[in-house]
Amino acid sequence: MSKTRTSSIEMDSEEFRKIGYQLIDDISNFIGSIDKKPVTPNESPSQLQTILGNLSLPEKGTDATELISKTTDLLFNHSLLNGHPKFFGYITSSAAPIGALADLLAASVNPNVGAHILSPMATEIEKQTVKWLCEFIGVSSNYGGILVSGGNMANFTAFLAARTAKAPKSVKEDGIQNAQNKLTVYCSKSTHTWIEKAAILFGLGTNAVRWIQTDASNKMDINVLESTIKKDLENNCMPLMVVGTAGDVSTGVVDNLSNISTICKTYDLWFHIDGAYGAPAAIIPELKNMFEGIKEADSIALDPHKWLYSPLEAGCTLVKNPQHLIDTYSSHPEYYNFSKNEDDVAQNFYEYGLQNSRGFRALKVWLALQQVGRSGYEKLISEDIALSEMLFDLADKHPELEAVSQNLSIATFRYIPMEINKDSGYLNPLNEALLNELQAGGDVFLSNAIVNKHYCLRACIVNFRTSEKDIKDIIDIVVREGKKVHLKLSETKMKV
Ligand SMILES: *Cc1c(COP(=O)(O)O)cnc(C)c1O
Repeated sequence: MSKTRTSSIEMDSEEFRKIGYQLIDDISNFIGSIDKKPVTPNESPSQLQTILGNLSLPEKGTDATELISKTTDLLFNHSLLNGHPKFFGYITSSAAPIGALADLLAASVNPNVGAHILSPMATEIEKQTVKWLCEFIGVSSNYGGILVSGGNMANFTAFLAARTAKAPKSVKEDGIQNAQNKLTVYCSKSTHTWIEKAAILFGLGTNAVRWIQTDASNKMDINVLESTIKKDLENNCMPLMVVGTAGDVSTGVVDNLSNISTICKTYDLWFHIDGAYGAPAAIIPELKNMFEGIKEADSIALDPHKWLYSPLEAGCTLVKNPQHLIDTYSSHPEYYNFSKNEDDVAQNFYEYGLQNSRGFRALKVWLALQQVGRSGYEKLISEDIALSEMLFDLADKHPELEAVSQNLSIATFRYIPMEINKDSGYLNPLNEALLNELQAGGDVFLSNAIVNKHYCLRACIVNFRTSEKDIKDIIDIVVREGKKVHLKLSETKMKV
């Protein structure tokens, strides 16, 4: 080795500039023409493997210019594009372009946001982001919190804090097998699957989850919640927490948060809100009533990579008394020369959650919040809701569609051929086949929901690129494909 080292992984600034400019040009063109591409190329795993090439680990290095150019081609032409104006599947948003720039910047400086000393400005930016998210959803900015990878992690982070706060103090040291009473948690039937993973992960087991039935409006039935808690208390269980959902993943319903909060106060339980999808809608003044009670939550999970349009990944846990996070996650090994959390000197995020070394996720959220501002987000979110309502109305008026539900920015509906009765058992397989056809077709991407045992098409609009024209197009596409699928199914039935 010579005195000055040449590293094959280094790029001098001239090389970086050249490759980087080209990449930025390519990404700009990609964003500028995303609406002209199919939502998905619908290639099979084996087709993709052929395109990718079944190569073994390269022995020698390759020129970076060539690598980046080949890789942009692979990803631009063989990906499902959730940034497409007609992507409405699951709850995945179009990614804000400023988030892409933020990720590049974050990776370039590469702060380790586990400890203040390793990420001085990044830590302060994350703290400010957390504070702004509190203001955004209308809770006290005394809540503390942390950015995590997504909704699941945000809920897990809160779940363990709840267990630490409400289970017997010995549980942290001795584990739950020594708790005298079975620890239980409560949530509605429509809660997302994270709760099962959390019950397994944190040792309670899935039988500790009490899935409370929902009422006619699809909200957690408060009377059943209370009677279940009472019954558990009589049967040597130890209720820990109730999870309210603010925007359920199937149909977007928000539980009655203030009633849940009252129950939690009566029985001294932790009140957690899973607002992964819906919490940002609390910014809309007209929806104030729907989110009443949000201020009472002990913890809230939200997901900037959903309705704040951050690129994946960005979730956030907010906790009313952030000391609960420190009680749960802090430790002070001898190999860390980091200041303790005693005064205002330094907040070390490794003490607030499960991760140790941490990337700078907050940057993309922080930048978008400033690019758009509070009023800008209020406008974007209300427009998404208005488009969803428009879709519902158009489906309602169409003779071959049935509008089924509409909450926040989620609409569900079904295709019903003219001559088929609404109660026909045929409609479930028909709509399932239609969804598969639509997902493969590349014109529009919807997902599904089962509502009152009916298989429905579901559109969740967290997409700042969608316009009224796209919504009208969807109706035409669904009906056009619906006719085809119906014809195909009735032909095969006739042959049988
Ligand atoms: C999306 C979602 C989750 C899971 O979030 P991820 O970011 O996918 O981990 C949990 N709960 C609700 C209500 C959601 O909408």
